[in-house]
Amino acid sequence: MTLSDKPRVLVVDDEPMNVELLQAYLSEDYEVLPAYNGHEALDIVFKELPDIVLLDVMMPDINGYQVCEKIKSSEITQFIPVVLVTALSGREDRLRGIESQADDFLTKPVDRLELKMRVKSLFRIKSLHDNVIMERDQAQNYLDVAAVMMLALDCSQNITLINKRGLEILGYGESEVIGKNLMEQFIPDSSRSEMEIHFLNSLNASGAGSTYYECPVITKNSEERMVNWYSKPLTDEGGKVIGVLFSGQDITIRKKAEEKLREQTHAMEASVDGMAILDEKGIYNYVNAAHARIFGYDNPRELIGKKWDLLYNPSQVSLFKSTILPEFKKKGKWQGELIGRRKDDSTFFQEISLTAFDKGLISVVRDISKRKEVESQLNDYAARLKSSNELKDLFTDILRHDLLNPAGVVKGFSDMLLNEEKDENKRYKIQLIDNNITRLIEMIESAAKFAKLEDMDKLEFKSMDIGPILSNVVKELKPQLSAKNITLDMRASGTYPAVINPLISGVFTNFISNAIKYGPSGSVVTVDIMDIGDEWKIMISDQGEGIPDMDKDLIFNRFQRLAEKKKAVKGSGLGLAIAKRIVELHGGGIGVEDNHSGKGSSFWATVKKA
Ligand code: ADP
Repeated sequence: MTLSDKPRVLVVDDEPMNVELLQAYLSEDYEVLPAYNGHEALDIVFKELPDIVLLDVMMPDINGYQVCEKIKSSEITQFIPVVLVTALSGREDRLRGIESQADDFLTKPVDRLELKMRVKSLFRIKSLHDNVIMERDQAQNYLDVAAVMMLALDCSQNITLINKRGLEILGYGESEVIGKNLMEQFIPDSSRSEMEIHFLNSLNASGAGSTYYECPVITKNSEERMVNWYSKPLTDEGGKVIGVLFSGQDITIRKKAEEKLREQTHAMEASVDGMAILDEKGIYNYVNAAHARIFGYDNPRELIGKKWDLLYNPSQVSLFKSTILPEFKKKGKWQGELIGRRKDDSTFFQEISLTAFDKGLISVVRDISKRKEVESQLNDYAARLKSSNELKDLFTDILRHDLLNPAGVVKGFSDMLLNEEKDENKRYKIQLIDNNITRLIEMIESAAKFAKLEDMDKLEFKSMDIGPILSNVVKELKPQLSAKNITLDMRASGTYPAVINPLISGVFTNFISNAIKYGPSGSVVTVDIMDIGDEWKIMISDQGEGIPDMDKDLIFNRFQRLAEKKKAVKGSGLGLAIAKRIVELHGGGIGVEDNHSGKGSSFWATVKKA
């Protein structure tokens, strides 16, 4: 039927009067299309697809039977009912008509009522048929455009129907699939029994069909694709189960994506850095636990669906828009520092990197407020250190210039007075002044020297022989040696090239003068240099009281003087500390041990050989 309201009837007769008559009978209910020979009739049939054809049999050229056969042999027109209108009523003629697949017969002269009845009932059949076809086509369309694959199996698991999507997934043509056993041809061995259970369950309608299950299929190029299936029994009109209808969705890509996402999500979840995925509108699509935690949220879900600017103050948002975003758009990434805003509105420094992803971006955030805090503490400390160093420098200057000068003046006058004064009592008092001022000057000098050495972190070295340096020190200490009648036993007589700075002579001076100071009159001080591989070990031994083990380390510390010795001998208590610092700056070692060849101590220092 066409869109015209009335059904259309093609009336074919070579006698125009007959056409006119039938037209008169039918025109009230139908639109009549006239044709006056077989050819004209066929033209109209194929062009207009009328709803019914009334066909005269006896026509010249091609008769009604032939026209009818042509109509019935075309797929397009085969369902158009054809009524043969004939004057012939013999059995042979009827058989011929049936042979040509005519749907009905009318005998001339045509009875008006009979004509109307026949046409009406044929038209009803045609309409029903058209509806069936339309529904079938529609169903087929649905099947074909469906994103799911559809398979109908008969009771022996053979495929009786498959839609386009099914063929696409399997990679076969329809003829290669229809009639084939689904289980044997398209399901991998490992999943066959499982799929068969679903088939049997559906066939027996025992509840299956209500759940989805995953099972792979094998495609034409031997690839396995994972399909999410749903199956239900297929019944005929009488309700008898005649097979199983499977519908399946190809979830191979989804499966792989899920796997990937799971791996990535796992890595992202485990990260200590905050990670988030934002869409093109800046909405959080994914947020890991660390990201939520960094911003003070208990659960990532609190942030998903929210816009990014929730987590930043307006000043940061405008900074982002004005400077960061343009750069990000140009390069597809950005890295730097921002100030984030926590859920409780407190702020924190963060290191953030943004990378373009899909249409949005991935952001990785690290809370660096702790680092910033430590940095600022370090800065403060450095500043304090600097000012304390400045203070120390100031004291060193005061020591050297402001104290040493007046002390020197006092020393000068006390020496002068000592020379001039004859009165013993007064001389004794002047001598006390002189001794103490001498000690004061020594202390100031060594304190200034120590402060200077403390500040130094590097010395310049050159290759020098230690032998002459030691001899020189001994020469300078001659007066002290003879004052206490101490013999110096110099055992080092070779050459001892070492990587040293002239300051090293201070160490030897200290060791030897201490040995004299703390050694008894008339004793022997031994000087020796030993080869200990990469280094020279310079050792000064005396025959004094020795140093108890518990004090052996302490005496190298600043102002550490041993209690009993305090009164007997004078000293600043800084000499060994200075020596230690000088040796440290040389990268060498320093220490004291008991004098192995008898009473007393052996002080030693090591320096690198040249
Ligand atoms: P000072 O000799 O000016 O007091 P030192 O730093 O040179 O300062 O020595 C620290 C202390 O170590 C001395 O006061 C003394 O008690 C002890 N000491 C140093 N050398 C010897 C030594 N050869 N024998 C015994 N005691 C020593």
